[in-house]
Amino acid sequence: MALEQTLVLLKPDALQRGLIGKVVARLEERGLQLVGLKMLKLDAKKCEEHYAHLVGKPFYPGLVSFMTSAPIVALVASGPEAVKVVRDMCGPTNARNAAPGTIRGDYSLSTQYNIIHASDSLETAHREVARFFKKEELFSYERALDKLTAAADEKK
Ligand code: UDP
Ligand code: MG
Repeated sequence: MALEQTLVLLKPDALQRGLIGKVVARLEERGLQLVGLKMLKLDAKKCEEHYAHLVGKPFYPGLVSFMTSAPIVALVASGPEAVKVVRDMCGPTNARNAAPGTIRGDYSLSTQYNIIHASDSLETAHREVARFFKKEELFSYERALDKLTAAADEKK
């Protein structure tokens, strides 16, 4: 098991609905460590870079206008197998299929307005973290509680 970093974006619906704190709290309560956190406004160019795999889909114009409609919160969460852990916490893209207890399953009824983005693989995570955070915006620090979040050999 490896210590990984994953990119999370809290989408404009999370900000508008006052859910930023609740979602960040869930990540913290799970034991994930926040190593970068900021608010920013996506522009169409950055949105296209981030969602390049979706350009040309019928919903893409709507997705751009949604994602650029208000600021987003970007964060990097670190932990053992953080990429999979956070994806599982999100639930599937269509929130109507997301189980209660997942972020999308608890806070959304939509496929598009689904609160949260999380990197879908370790390779994607490397690219996405670099897309949103400069090296100096990511912090390496010890938490007193980290000896309790997972055994030492799970965090190498
Ligand atoms: N999306 C949408 N309609 C769709 C599929 C996706 O509006 O039919 C939006 C939705 O906000 C989703 C984002 O595009 O979260 C990225 O899609 P992806 O397939 O990468 O889903 P995710 O990785 O976010 O679950
Ligand atoms: Mg995706």
